[in-house]
Amino acid sequence: MTEIDMTEYTKDFLKTEEFVKRNIIPADNGGTVCIDGRYSPEQSAGAIRAPGGDFGFIMAIQAELIEQGIASDSARLVEAYLSTVEELRVQPGGHYHSNEHNHEAGRIGCGHIAKASNPDLSHLYFPLTAEHVRNLYDVFHAHESTDQSVLEGTHEESGVLLVHGPGKGAEPKYSVNSLDTQTGEMYFVVDIDRAERFIESIAPILSEKLGLEVNVPGVRSHFMTQLGSTASLLAPSLMQYSVVIGKQGNATVSEAGKVKPADV
Ligand SMILES: [Zn+2]
Repeated sequence: MTEIDMTEYTKDFLKTEEFVKRNIIPADNGGTVCIDGRYSPEQSAGAIRAPGGDFGFIMAIQAELIEQGIASDSARLVEAYLSTVEELRVQPGGHYHSNEHNHEAGRIGCGHIAKASNPDLSHLYFPLTAEHVRNLYDVFHAHESTDQSVLEGTHEESGVLLVHGPGKGAEPKYSVNSLDTQTGEMYFVVDIDRAERFIESIAPILSEKLGLEVNVPGVRSHFMTQLGSTASLLAPSLMQYSVVIGKQGNATVSEAGKVKPADV
């Protein structure tokens, strides 16, 4: 029997491809949850995977409004966002999460929000400052229609899955579970195309509620910058994979380079 010379790189790729194929799920647009790999299939079921969950979208919107010189009052923005998702979703409510350890200690448990609210890291989330994030968080955390999951266990993600739909205007109808409960393997999962569509769908409603223009490409750009900053802090050197899922749920996986460590 000939021994196949398989590099670690190839092994990781094949392992990831297998993981994706076993864990494709229908997307239901019922909500948004964080990209954190520890979400069980039940906890994340079909939701849009975006850093920070609903709170992450609010961070991206506020960053864009700050850049335009029209930053919103925190309470007003959170209220407008939550009432917008209530109009659009099957399951209303703004979602975010904590984790066992930090939850007990009364600290912010989602890495995306924790990093962005750290004054020493503000340059990575510019023009959003730690104070902006903190103000938004206080309102969001106290709001009656937000719900927080407490995730168990530690981060063991093997990579970052950047999930795309079929493209050419076709609706992305699938996502990937971040945790395989059979094998215990986990990945960060980001629904790139679904997040973009979500931003497109909320922007006109938010604009009307806030009485200003929420610019879609601007919000998307801040969303990607903030995602990149958090990945560079929490997942430095992890491999990213582009996962394109076609109309019938067939996935094509390809490497998309390693996450560059943050410049801190
Ligand atoms: Zn998180």
